[in-house]
Amino acid sequence: MFSDFTKEVDKDNIAFITWNCLDKSMNTMTGNGFKNFQQLIIEALSDETIKGIIITSGKVDFSGGMDLSTLEALKRNSGSNPASKIFEFIMEGHTLLRKIELGKIDDSSKAKPVAFAGGGVCAGIGTEIGLACHRRFFSSSKESKIGLPEILVGLFPGLGGTTRVPRMMGLMGASSVLLEGKLFASDKAKSIGLVDEVVAGDELIQKAKNWVLSASPQDLIKPWDQKGFKFPGGAPYHPSGFMSFVGASALVNGKTKGLYAAPKALLSSVYEGALVDFDSALKIEARWFTSVLMTDTCTNMARTLFLNKSALEKGQQRPAGAKETNLKQISVIGSGMMGSGIAFASLLNGLQVLLVDQNIEAAEAGKMKIEMLLNESVKRKKLSEEEKTKLLGHVKTVSSLERISGSDLVIEAVFEDLQLKQSLYQKIEPHLKEGSILASNTSTLPITKLSEVLKDRTRFIGIHFFSPVDKMNLVEVIKSQKTNERSLAVALDYISLIKKTPIVVNDSRGFYANRCIIPYINEGLRMLSEGIGPALIENSAKQIGMPVGPLQLLDELSVSLALNVAKETKAALGKDYEETGTESILLEMSQKKRFGRKELAGFYDYDNKGRRQKLWEGLKNLNIERKNADITSELVKNRLAYVQALEAVRAYEENILLSVEEGDVGGILGWGCLIWAGGPFSWLDHVGHENVLSECQKLFEQYGARFAPPKIIKELASSGSKFYN
Ligand code: NAD
Repeated sequence: MFSDFTKEVDKDNIAFITWNCLDKSMNTMTGNGFKNFQQLIIEALSDETIKGIIITSGKVDFSGGMDLSTLEALKRNSGSNPASKIFEFIMEGHTLLRKIELGKIDDSSKAKPVAFAGGGVCAGIGTEIGLACHRRFFSSSKESKIGLPEILVGLFPGLGGTTRVPRMMGLMGASSVLLEGKLFASDKAKSIGLVDEVVAGDELIQKAKNWVLSASPQDLIKPWDQKGFKFPGGAPYHPSGFMSFVGASALVNGKTKGLYAAPKALLSSVYEGALVDFDSALKIEARWFTSVLMTDTCTNMARTLFLNKSALEKGQQRPAGAKETNLKQISVIGSGMMGSGIAFASLLNGLQVLLVDQNIEAAEAGKMKIEMLLNESVKRKKLSEEEKTKLLGHVKTVSSLERISGSDLVIEAVFEDLQLKQSLYQKIEPHLKEGSILASNTSTLPITKLSEVLKDRTRFIGIHFFSPVDKMNLVEVIKSQKTNERSLAVALDYISLIKKTPIVVNDSRGFYANRCIIPYINEGLRMLSEGIGPALIENSAKQIGMPVGPLQLLDELSVSLALNVAKETKAALGKDYEETGTESILLEMSQKKRFGRKELAGFYDYDNKGRRQKLWEGLKNLNIERKNADITSELVKNRLAYVQALEAVRAYEENILLSVEEGDVGGILGWGCLIWAGGPFSWLDHVGHENVLSECQKLFEQYGARFAPPKIIKELASSGSKFYN
């Protein structure tokens, strides 16, 4: 007996079908849940005494969408022909939603009105159920948002989304819903036609019921089921439709570089579907959706960005049995770019923040940065002016350390300087209250080394945020050799509270993310110093799906930072330091005062507002030996992809990275590494380890040890297995 859905009939003979997964905080659709829903809808539609149906939720949120593990299991357990099983499953879904849309189980019965009454988060299949209903009522609460985010995890809305939405709002209107995967606040959702009425949460059911009781037969016929329906904005062979479809195709290919299968399939589904009747269009959609699900890169992307990311967010790495923490106040020491961002994220999620800097002016300057971020939120209607003022009241600025004794967690984000940080810790430690922990946001300094000056080293940990903190959701948690489980639990509870995604790694220089980003940048610099054209380097990076090329990335980080990191690493490693072959070009750039975007001059030219214009012409005149200028774009792409993926594998082999799942989630959220393939480990699996091995051998012979195949790759190649089996 499945009970994700229940059916109740009220005194006016309205059937309420309520979604409430009792074992989960969020409604998600599973195979069994679907059967349950199907049975209740068919019962309600077949019952002649029932006047109408209202589909609603027993929770604040309507639904988070499909439980993607259901699709994964379906694919895995479908014997020799999984595509046909997946297709059948999707068609069953289409058939049911079509019954809802027609309001009857077959042509012989009379149509009943079906209303959707939802609120909170409504995503994916939850939204698609709503789209099949005759009228959608959505809660006006600030937390309510609705949309079809499937594209963001490598899939597309395959339960009628690509067939209904373009027929409701035209291709141009549909593109932000389907291709950008946005979730829309209630008013916006109404203005674009995703919902029909926005009402106060407590009136939702009554309003839906009033409508059901008064609906006319005409209200129950969707435009596409009426004679003479015209595709809004024009179907593909209409002059304006033609322009939109050609434009959308160019836009999608330009953005995705042809790497992502889902957006391409989505457009094909819309295009081909627009040329036929509605029911045939649903079949076309099901075929494209099946083809996407059968692509390993799409399912890998969904695995990383949905299943594994959610598991990490739910505390997969939290030590079992560690006591729940109840964080109320944190201290942030150093209110610069990172410190103010950390404070902002903490404030938004209900924490009180003590902002400490060298002097009160610096701390106040940090508070102003927070205010600017809050102003942005007000501008984007995420906060009201009153809420902003209230939140600002939760920040206290000080220049001395005594008051940190009220904090449950102290995060240090001062300059990246070992001595400075260590001397500060000695001053901080006496003020830490019982049970509170101290964390550093250092980006490169080993956590064990930093903690050496502390009396109690067990309560010290790395909590490494990425910049800008308000936009980047990954947080790397670094355990020193002494960090205890409680400190890890507090760090993870804090990250969960501020709604970010943690990965937990062991200590070493650069931890996981920076360890892999640095070789990527260095490879770009090496290629430049070999005389390879900068445009070829940057464009090849984009063609392997990197969000930014290595030279652009360095401009963002700054040449002086790169020189500093090289200097620190050299000092720390002594005779073990290996020359990267990039120093001379960095020095030349710094002599020419081309430090990066902040200085409006780097590998690129910038206008006075810091907007990137074009690659700097002067790169042609750098003092470099032009020995490899004839390299193919394929080789440039391979060098850029393998150099980071192999470093990720080494981090795993050395037990810095604790799981390939975290390696993929961290790779994608941390530096946008091979997103389309599901992250670096999934990409290596996709290429196949025999191919990886032979390519690495070639690169190793030509370019050196950084491409030497790691032992684990050799083992996977010889056993024919994968990181994810
Ligand atoms: P920043 O220069 O913007 O800010 C540093 C702040 O620390 C300044 O406000 C400074 O006044 C303050 N400070 C210095 N000495 C202090 C002291 N003794 N007591 C109190 N405050 C003091 O630097 P940032 O970019 O915010 O970096 C801070 C830390 O975060 C560094 O360890 C850096 O490696 C790390 N980090 C930076 C980034 C990044 O992209 N900028 C990303 C991840 C981690």
